Amino acid sequence: MKKEIITITFAVVTALAINSLNAQDMSNGKLDKIEVTEDMQPVNPDWFTGTGWLEMLVTDTDTFGVSVGNVIFKPGCRNHWHKHPGGQLLIVTDGMGYYQERGKPVQVLHKGDVVAIYPGVEHWHGATPDSWFAHMALGTNPEAAPTEWMEPVSDDVYFNLDK
Ligand code: MN
Repeated sequence: MKKEIITITFAVVTALAINSLNAQDMSNGKLDKIEVTEDMQPVNPDWFTGTGWLEMLVTDTDTFGVSVGNVIFKPGCRNHWHKHPGGQLLIVTDGMGYYQERGKPVQVLHKGDVVAIYPGVEHWHGATPDSWFAHMALGTNPEAAPTEWMEPVSDDVYFNLDK
């Protein structure tokens, strides 16, 4: 009887420990690293703060009417304020990140989230300060004008986001 109770107690404690570990991992979105392949190129420092990588996966917009790029952000990396005259769709594939439109609170993004960015809407996206982040970026209406880049998201803004 005593042995049984000890076994059950051990099982419960183990289960609680695993649950708490999972909850912690999910709540802060921390990852050791998202794999950066040799096919990825560093993001343009004129348009990004911090370290990130880009690989264009679909570029034949004449055929498909959309471009697809895989973007990986190291913790703290984010792009500058910008707008896409043709719009953009983001599909989050890993980690935890931010998306913010001008004048609005930031949105925290997790794997599986999809963001529809309407043409001309000023915004930025990137990792949180302590998590890697990865998304697919779909460039819609590729016949529209190129992305218009604006000022960086300052550390003062980035580290004091209204969530
Ligand atoms: Mn964008």
